[in-house]
Amino acid sequence: KESRAMKFQRQHMDPDGPSNNSNYCNQMMRRRHMTEGRCKPVNTFVHEPLVDVQAVCLQGNITCKNGQPNCHKSSSSMKITDCRVTRGSKYPNCDYRTSQKERHIIVACEGNPYVPVHFDASV
Ligand code: C5P
Repeated sequence: KESRAMKFQRQHMDPDGPSNNSNYCNQMMRRRHMTEGRCKPVNTFVHEPLVDVQAVCLQGNITCKNGQPNCHKSSSSMKITDCRVTRGSKYPNCDYRTSQKERHIIVACEGNPYVPVHFDASV
């Protein structure tokens, strides 16, 4: 079974990306299996080395949106792509808007090793 840490990597890690094209989210949301059963409405991909994203678990500790205490905000801004489903998108034809940004990321971490398991927000 896919671990929560592996699921985070599938849903949120793309260190070598992004190919700078407006179809990035349409292709990646499909390729990473987030358009099965429904179109996942919002998803962020991070374009930084995995070790740098894992290191966020040692950076500023904050409360997550759901009230849990194990979120961490990156001390540096990171290259990300924000994917949001368009208003006209109709499952199974999931259509996304692709926006490249540089933001601080907020992730929840768990386990031993203490690694990212949830993407909370970018700010
Ligand atoms: O904020 P909300 O609970 O609606 O987020 C649901 C999921 O959407 C998160 O678990 C995360 O996978 C994804 N998300 C994201 N980037 C954001 C906000 C949410 O990837 N900026």
